[in-house]
Amino acid sequence: MQSKLKKVINPPEFLGILGGGQLGRFFTISAQKMGYSVVVFDPDKQSPASKIAEKHICKPYNDLKALDELKASCIAVTTEFENIPAETLKYLEKDIIIRPSSKAISIAQNRIKEKDFLKNLEMPVGTYVVIDSIESINNINKELRIFPGILKIAEFGYDGKGQIHVNNKTELEAAFKAFKSVPCTLELKLNLDSEFSIVLARSLNGEFIEYPPIHNTHNSGILEFSSVPNASISSLDKVYIGLTQRIANELSYVGVMAVEWFVADGQFFVNEIAPRPHNSGHFSIDACVYDQFDQQVLALTGNKLKQPEIEFPRSVMLNILGDLWFRDGSQKEPKFEMIAGLGVNLHLYEKAEPRIGRKMGHITILGLRNETQEDVMKRTLLIRKILWEN
Ligand code: ADP
Ligand code: MG
Repeated sequence: MQSKLKKVINPPEFLGILGGGQLGRFFTISAQKMGYSVVVFDPDKQSPASKIAEKHICKPYNDLKALDELKASCIAVTTEFENIPAETLKYLEKDIIIRPSSKAISIAQNRIKEKDFLKNLEMPVGTYVVIDSIESINNINKELRIFPGILKIAEFGYDGKGQIHVNNKTELEAAFKAFKSVPCTLELKLNLDSEFSIVLARSLNGEFIEYPPIHNTHNSGILEFSSVPNASISSLDKVYIGLTQRIANELSYVGVMAVEWFVADGQFFVNEIAPRPHNSGHFSIDACVYDQFDQQVLALTGNKLKQPEIEFPRSVMLNILGDLWFRDGSQKEPKFEMIAGLGVNLHLYEKAEPRIGRKMGHITILGLRNETQEDVMKRTLLIRKILWEN
C-alpha cells in the first residue's frame, strides 16, 4: 500500500468511483478523456454514470463481496457524494487508495463533526447546538439566541432534505421526533444577504488550484443558479480562498473540495464542506479548459493539478429540476428544442424518471465578449422562461 500511495496512476488503468449520479458521470467523462477506464459502484441499475462507464458494480455499499470486486478492478477510488457509509470507505482503504481519505469524508458527512471541526479551527460558523435527545432540547441555554432555527439531520441530508424550520422548543421537539430522534444540529436561521462557494483542488503534494468564488442562488433549499464572477465579494476573494485552503490542509485533503459560505448581515459564515466537486462548479465544464472533474481525476491519480484557464469569465449555470416536467400539473417532456438555437450548453443526466426536486440536468450560459454579467443573467432568465412557458 505504501508504495502504491506514492505512484502516479497512468492511463489506461481503471479508476473507481463510489456513486453513479451526475457527479460520477462527469468524473467518468473527464477520466475517459484522459485515457482512463472507469468502474462505477452504485446500487442503482439506471445510474447516470453507469450508462457511460466501462464497468458497473451494481450492489449495495455494504456488500463486502462486491467491494472486494471493486478492489480487484482498480487501485484508486474516489466518491461522488459524502453519503457513502464510512465503514465502506474504511474497508476499501485497507487495500486501495481512497482520495479524499475516509477520515476527511467522515467529518464532512456528519454535520456535528463538521461544525465542531470548523469551530475548533476558529472558522466563522453560525450559532448551533447539537440535538441528540429530549434532554439536549431541555438543556438549551435560555440566553442563547437560536430561534428561529433550522433542525438538520446530522447525516444523509442533501438538497435541503432532512431540514425543518422551527420557531420554539415545542416545534423543535416535534421536528426532532419527526426525524425519529436521530442526531441533529439546530442552527440559528441567518438573515442571508447572499451565498457563495469556493471550489478548489488539493494535490497529493499539497498544491492548490482554485476556481473563482461562485455566487449561488437557492430556491426551496436547492441550488437554482450559480454565476461567476461574484462581484459582491471580489475584494475578499483571497481571504475566503485562503480560509478554504486552510480547511483542506487541516483535513490533509486530496481531491476537489467545495466550501459553501453565507453572507448574513454583512458577516461571513461557513455553511458546509462538500468533499467532492460541487454543483456550483459545473460552470467550469464549459467555461474553463480544465474543469473541476479534470482536477478530481488529476488529484486521484497523483498528478499535478492544472490551472483552470478560464475562457469565459462571465457565465451562469441554471439547474434543471424534475419540476420542469410537471409544469402543467401533469407530466410532459420539456421543449428543449426551443432553446437549442440560443447558444447554450445543455447537459442532461439521463436519469430514469423526473421527480420534483430531482436534478435532471443543467444549462450553462457563457458570456460573450461584448456581454456584461447582467446580460448573461438576462439571457438565463429568458431561457428559464421559455422552458417554463412552453
Ligand atoms: P444541504 O446539505 O441540503 O445543501 P445546507 O445546510 O447547505 O444543506 O442548506 C441548504 C440551503 O438552505 C442553504 O444553501 C441555504 O440557502 C439554506 N440554509 C441552510 N442553513 C441556513 C441557515 N442557518 N440560515 C439561513 N439559511 C440556511
Ligand atoms: Mg448545502
